[in-house]
Amino acid sequence: MTVFQYRCSRCGRTYGRDEVRYLCPECGRDYAPGMPLRGVLEAEFDYALIARSFDRSRPDWDLFSAVEREHYPAFPVGGTPFAPAPRLCERLGWANLWVKNDGQNPSGSLKDRASFLVVAEAARLGEKTVVAASTGNAASSLAAVCAAAGRRAVIFVPQSAPQAKLVQMLLCGARVIRIKGSYDDAFRLSLEYTRRRGGLNRNTAYHPLTIEGKKTVGLEIFAQNGMRVPEAILVPVGDGVIISGVFKAFRDLRAAGLCERLPRLVAVQAESSAAIHDYIVSGSFRPAYSPTTVADSISVSVPSNPDLARRAVLESGGFSLTVGDERILEAQSLLAREAGIFAEPAAAAAAAALLADEARERLDRDGQVVLLVTGHGLKDVRTPLSRLTIPEPIPADIEALPPETEEA
Ligand SMILES: *Cc1c(COP(=O)(O)O)cnc(C)c1O
Ligand SMILES: [Zn+2]
Repeated sequence: MTVFQYRCSRCGRTYGRDEVRYLCPECGRDYAPGMPLRGVLEAEFDYALIARSFDRSRPDWDLFSAVEREHYPAFPVGGTPFAPAPRLCERLGWANLWVKNDGQNPSGSLKDRASFLVVAEAARLGEKTVVAASTGNAASSLAAVCAAAGRRAVIFVPQSAPQAKLVQMLLCGARVIRIKGSYDDAFRLSLEYTRRRGGLNRNTAYHPLTIEGKKTVGLEIFAQNGMRVPEAILVPVGDGVIISGVFKAFRDLRAAGLCERLPRLVAVQAESSAAIHDYIVSGSFRPAYSPTTVADSISVSVPSNPDLARRAVLESGGFSLTVGDERILEAQSLLAREAGIFAEPAAAAAAAALLADEARERLDRDGQVVLLVTGHGLKDVRTPLSRLTIPEPIPADIEALPPETEEA
């Protein structure tokens, strides 16, 4: 059985799981579109109960889940590879780099973890429709999970969403509403939609179980790492929910007595979309003026969850940094050539941090550093294509083969 309550991350009030749905009713009153969410809720478990029930030799991770297994969609998510990247280490001069490849989720991004849990919650509540605003991945993920679970997905995306992501949602039968505007506009419209027409809203951090869903990647890293805490985890950050989820995982584990310390969390943002980085560094929040980056999945002007993201970084002893588009593309190529991993630009941003002076100076290069790869490269082939040359075709004749090149 699942035992938890919601606690407001702002005022600390607590609520029963069926007493509230989205934001803290007190703090959320002050929320208006165009500002970060106010009163984001966090699930607080009975950690003493988990500590008593958890058996390290037969771990039951359901103890950390906010929705009971009987409501889970028939759509397994997670269980993605976690492996060392020796050639990347050699190439970059780090001793112990690991990759958690969440691009291997069924819809190709880490978002599946959040969609899965919110759709499970929709099943528990008997809600037929699930609504979301998204830069693309949350939407294609929600469309896929809803298709498997026999629910309706209603999706708001900015018109700039990459084609492959649009194809995913449409093919899965979602109702797709493209907005002549930004992700921030889509976010606002989707909230208005659920307010007027109902359905369960899956917007990131607005529905508290998005954080809980994303938490599972942190639990998995811990489990796959032999129940050890890595030195640091590099996380690409847009709205700041993935990093809050990873933080929550290790805080839950610590509260249940399963680990003693937290991994240092490093928030990586794109230079033009760095509202959370600026907030972490300066302590005062300002929107990103004009988020234009090749890393579409982390392009946001007003992130929904800056407070929890900031706390994740500061309380874990981590830090934040920004990377430019050129460096993101360089890292995308490096990940592919040195680890065989094709990551979408936003996901490659974590690897781009390895090239930045801040990370090289502030992280222990002998410690275990985990790159969280959040999305698959096939979601956007146009961006890397601009730096590649597709070879001209040759006659189907061995004599026509061009001379060998030096590259290994
Ligand atoms: C959503 C997303 C992110 C950022 O996650 P936030 O919770 O918005 O910070 C990073 N990478 C990919 C591929 C994503 O889809
Ligand atoms: Zn509150």
